[in-house]
Order: sequence, then structure tokens, then C-alpha cells
Amino acid sequence: MPRIFSGIQPSGELHIGNYLGAVRNWVGLQHEFESFICIVNYHAITQPFEPVDLMRRTHEMAVSLLAAGIDPGVATLFVQSHVPEHTELAWLLNTITPLGELERQTQFKDKASRQESVPAGLLNYPVLQAADILLYHADIVPVGEDQIQHLELSREIARRWNARFAEGYFPEPQPKLTPTRRIMGLDGNAKMSKSLGNTVALLEPTAAIWEKLRPAMTDPARVRKTDPGNPDVCNIYQLHKAFSPEATQVHVAAQCRSAGWGCIECKRVLADSMEVELVPIRARAVELAAHPQRVTDALGDGASRARSVARTTIDEVRERMGIA
Ligand code: SF4
Repeated sequence: MPRIFSGIQPSGELHIGNYLGAVRNWVGLQHEFESFICIVNYHAITQPFEPVDLMRRTHEMAVSLLAAGIDPGVATLFVQSHVPEHTELAWLLNTITPLGELERQTQFKDKASRQESVPAGLLNYPVLQAADILLYHADIVPVGEDQIQHLELSREIARRWNARFAEGYFPEPQPKLTPTRRIMGLDGNAKMSKSLGNTVALLEPTAAIWEKLRPAMTDPARVRKTDPGNPDVCNIYQLHKAFSPEATQVHVAAQCRSAGWGCIECKRVLADSMEVELVPIRARAVELAAHPQRVTDALGDGASRARSVARTTIDEVRERMGIA
């Protein structure tokens, strides 16, 4: 089975943007690929954080991933800091990565420009990301468009290390673009993001979801119920495409274009479609909340499976680099 590696920041409970943009895809892929799914808490500390929050958010992310359908009996789900080989390989790869390539990364320039004091960890973030992937000799990495540049750097680091120490040792990981394009926030202005407050949390109860959907932005040109709308520019229609069956999507588009219904009716249909998918996820999360040891055990098993692969890689890399 080809191997994939996926990483996700411990941002707490998933929102539907993370779910549709990444995690739902991983749930499907875990049956086609040998999957390593990592909660990347070492990456998270390159941004300002509070230790107590980080611990809580790491646990919540694990609950969300398991509730969303990641099966710890099929995929290897673990926390990055439970496998110290990630930082060991990152250091070794740092020694062959030119500074200029790190400084050219768009995400670094963007994040650094918003900070008064820039930690070196922010610059070296893509090297740790390369280590995450190469440690498991991953063939494929599911990514969004905004991660393509970092993955290209991982490929470059693999090529550079292979050329210097062992031709063909690390595979050059290939990107697998996630099928759902990025999900806009309910304000319709920007990507769905917890910091912008425009999200729906994956585990939010029905009534709370409706409170957010009801005032959510639609086609801005549709002022009255009698105005025909354009679903292609409407954020609610994008969510229909993610959650509603195809026949419903066709019906929604026709009703919108002919002013056959108002946006509130359209949103009610969306809320119903979301319930079909989200109710079982919420039920699993309630079950896990009642049995937190199951989460701890799943992460423990995942870490020991990940470590057995990671240790072999580190031993081989050290040997080829002449490090005893
Ligand atoms: Fe959007 Fe539906 Fe309103 Fe059309 S009817 S603008 S798809 S919410």
C-alpha cells in the first residue's frame, strides 16, 4: 500500500472548513493508503500560545479526528511530540537546507511580517514539515493549494539529502490536492478560520448551527426574495455542494436562479443536509468525551506504531551521515 502523511495543527475542535478541506478526505484515503495522521504540536508553538490551552487543544483535536471517522485501527494517529524522531530528523535536515530557500517561503514572509520578533522556529517550520513526511518515507501528501510551496521544499530537501548521502533513499513526496476547494467563512469575505469568527464547529449542536447559518452571507446581489440569485457566487451553495446530495444541489440551483424560494428556505435545506452527516460525528464525540482514556490509548498506540517506523529511518539516516 502506498503511504501518505497528513499533519494538522492542534487548533482544538475542528470546524467544517478543516473537515471539508482536509479531514473528510483523509477518512476516505485511510482505506486506500497506509496513513500516518499527525497532530503537529511542535509546529503550533512557532506562533504565540498558552501551554494549558495547547494541551487542551491537542486532546480536542484528537477527539474531533476520531469522531470525524479516522479509525485508529486502520490509520496511525499520533501526536508529533510523542515521536521525538521528528525533531531529530529536522535538525539533520536543517544542516543541508539553504537559508535563502527558507526565507523565500511565502508563508514565512507573511507570518513574519505580522510579528515584531520572529522566532527561528518560524523560519525552520518547513524543515520540520519535511522531516514529518520523510521520516515515514511518505509517497503522497494530501495538501491544499496553500501548502504546495512547502511540499516542493520537502521534495527539494529529499533530493539534496539523497544526492549528498544516499541516492534514492528518500522518495520525493507527491502532492494530492484535496477535492474540496477552500471553504469560505459564513461572512463570505475570507477563508473559514477560527480567528476570524466565521466558522461552524464540527461538533456544534443543531440550534447553534442554525443561529449561524440564518444570518450567513448569500449572493450579495439578491436583495429581495423575488430577485433571481446566482448560486455560483453564493457561499451557502458551496456548502450545499459539500453536504447535499446531487439531486438537492440541482434543485437548489434551479430554485435560486428562478427566485423560486427565499434564502432562508434554502438554508433550512442545507441545515438538514448537514445534520445527516454531522449527527453521527457528534454522537461519536459524546461517546469519546465520556471515555477519555480511549483517546489517550488510541494516541499511545499510534505513537508506538509511528515510532517503530521513525526509529528505523533515523538509524539509517544517522549511519549514512556518519553520526554514531
Ligand atoms: Fe444562495 Fe440559496 Fe439564496 Fe441562492 S437561494 S442566493 S443559493 S442561499
